Amino acid sequence: MTATRLALDLAVTIRHDGHGGVTDDLADPDGLTTWIAERAALLDCAADPVTDDPALHTAVRELRAAVRALFARAVRPGPPSSADAHRLLPEDTALHRLNTAAALVPTSPQLSWEPGAPPALRQHPHGTPPAADRIAAALARAALTFLAGPDRDRLRACPAPRCVRYFVKDHARQEWCSPSCGNRARVARHHERHKEGRRDPS
Ligand SMILES: [Zn+2]
Repeated sequence: MTATRLALDLAVTIRHDGHGGVTDDLADPDGLTTWIAERAALLDCAADPVTDDPALHTAVRELRAAVRALFARAVRPGPPSSADAHRLLPEDTALHRLNTAAALVPTSPQLSWEPGAPPALRQHPHGTPPAADRIAAALARAALTFLAGPDRDRLRACPAPRCVRYFVKDHARQEWCSPSCGNRARVARHHERHKEGRRDPS
């Protein structure tokens, strides 16, 4: 589902850097431009590419903070991602921020049905809002749709060592965001058991 994918994609722009730290794909406006270009169709801005826009950069990072605060709530009683667990936005601020951004661009549902293709429903913006508003509103709407929808129950913070990703479980027994995280976690558990065994031979 598009909403789930967009909301998750935004959240996981904060990720493990592969060396024990955390990196941010949206740290600078260039990173945001690339990220948006890769999702231009989903964000309804393919015809109107965005380049270096500091206001949009700030807005998207603020939306991400709101999304991550509400993801932390959604995964309870499980633990949140450790990347920002100590500095989460208050939940009412996060909700207000997402609702306000979603209202930037009023939309109407519009159906298209090309020959040989299934019918497609999209939210068509009223008037001609600037691309930056459309992008912020599309991200906020995706987050609202995901958080109110059935996929929210399968949201987890990956518990593998050093991983800070949120993911949506594909099946009930999935524990990790990816096979590589599963391998790392199993190796860590094995070492832990091995250490305990050495300390306590009984
Ligand atoms: Zn992981």
